[in-house]
Amino acid sequence: MVAVPEPITADQTSPFLVQADVVVDARHNFPERLLLNRLCVQLGVPMVEAAMNGAEGQVSVVRPGQTACLACRCGDGDPEWEPLEFPVLGAVAGRVGCLAAIEAIKVVTGWGKPLDDRLLTLDLEHMIFQTLPITRDPACPVCAGSYPTPATGTAQSRPN
Ligand SMILES: [Zn+2]
Repeated sequence: MVAVPEPITADQTSPFLVQADVVVDARHNFPERLLLNRLCVQLGVPMVEAAMNGAEGQVSVVRPGQTACLACRCGDGDPEWEPLEFPVLGAVAGRVGCLAAIEAIKVVTGWGKPLDDRLLTLDLEHMIFQTLPITRDPACPVCAGSYPTPATGTAQSRPN
């Protein structure tokens, strides 16, 4: 396992990604999360997407060419997005991190049933856990070209 505590950039992050069996996204801002999503889809690297805010958390798995990606669920970014300060409760971050680690183990080993096309949501204030379906966006600007075409069954070219 390699932790990369650096800002996500295409030039500096891609060399780590091409060597990875799975990537765990734990970035705290949408521009970097969406960039990492784009890079993982382009390079065909599975990604566990983990996020939290206050007492709430979310975990999902992105498998390029197989499942919905982060942009299918959240769009590909708002250029006007400004970093926000948000509350972080260490115990919540720890819970979300442990769940992301379990998903990474599943992706690497084939064990269990990963959160493919599903979003696990946690509300730890009220102890409500839900697993919601995620639908791939066939017009997604990030991953739409990475899926097999129904007519040929072969992958289309990946988006730039
Ligand atoms: Zn997508």
